[in-house]
Amino acid sequence: MAEQKRDYYEVLGVSKNASDADIKRAYRKLAKENHPDLHPGDKACEARFKEANEAYEVLSNPDKKAKYDQFGFAGVDPNYGGAGGYGGGFTGDFDFGDLGDIFGSFFGGGFGGGQARRNGPVRGETIRTSVSISFEEAAFGCEKEVVIERTENCSECGGSGCAKGTTAEVCPECHGNGTTQVRRQTPMGIFATTQTCPKCGGRGKIIHQPCPKCRGVGTERRSRTIKAAIPAGIDNGQTISLRGQGHAGRNGGPAGDLHITVTVRPHEIFRREGNSVLCEAPISFVQAALGAEMEIPTIDGKVQYSIPEGTQSGTVFRLRGKGIPNLNGKGRGDQFVTVYVETPRNLTAEQREALKKFGETLGETNYGEERKGFFGKKRRK
Ligand SMILES: [Zn+2]
Ligand SMILES: [Zn+2]
Repeated sequence: MAEQKRDYYEVLGVSKNASDADIKRAYRKLAKENHPDLHPGDKACEARFKEANEAYEVLSNPDKKAKYDQFGFAGVDPNYGGAGGYGGGFTGDFDFGDLGDIFGSFFGGGFGGGQARRNGPVRGETIRTSVSISFEEAAFGCEKEVVIERTENCSECGGSGCAKGTTAEVCPECHGNGTTQVRRQTPMGIFATTQTCPKCGGRGKIIHQPCPKCRGVGTERRSRTIKAAIPAGIDNGQTISLRGQGHAGRNGGPAGDLHITVTVRPHEIFRREGNSVLCEAPISFVQAALGAEMEIPTIDGKVQYSIPEGTQSGTVFRLRGKGIPNLNGKGRGDQFVTVYVETPRNLTAEQREALKKFGETLGETNYGEERKGFFGKKRRK
């Protein structure tokens, strides 16, 4: 019978009320201190490392943690108290491969040559595509279809690669790890290297009766039309992510994501800056001088707007709430309309005469401070 197991909280040196972050921190510290790659051959370190790892596996998983809190070891280890004694996933020889995934996520995979277990679950790859939408579709959101080619689990065998009613055998050579150790005698000493299991080719299993559809591969290529809801307010170059719509995962891992980058086609009259809609509106010389009721185009359709008399070219009017909806669904930006005065062209003789006469009537009072500032003293004489 194995020695008495230590309480998982005690192993990590945290209280029962410790937060997830505290548990993770405590585990990382212990794992770094006792990592077998740093203490080759030190059985005590190896044991502490395994112990910390087992404790963390339970305490970092809300479901397992709850069961452990309620039932102790019996809640999380089916072998506990049985003939197997100190059981679970940590019987037998220390297997670095089991830890590869956890270490990969902690230390970026660069720790101790962190070769992840070759046949461990691997998330599927991301698929990247793009979609082109109109200015208005970006403003108000839309649904778009994209066609992608992706790897999916075989529809016949569900990814196992085995013919119906059969299962794969765990590779007897590598015991399912997909890798084997090779020891090489060199003048510098004995080196152990990990290599892909030659018997199973790294899959960790041997399929005796392959699925007829995928011939044992477990996956198939499919062309799929995916509906994507593009949220209102999205801007040119932004990417939406559809979880689980990418390539199938390997060895039971989850599918990857689908990333759709949105290209917004330019609009004839509107431009966009953040959530503001910008446009320019031509007004006639007469409208500018006398003021006018104008129809201004907005992304919601035309609205009436009163231009005050004496409006100058370059004046910017704000139409509140006529801009782009915020991506978070709350509120909208504004529209900014810059007016410019169109100078009349191709005047007839009568128009020229009338304009000349009109010009002679104009005096300093018809112009503003800007003009005085620009022409300075010269004009005043
Ligand atoms: Zn199949
Ligand atoms: Zn093998």
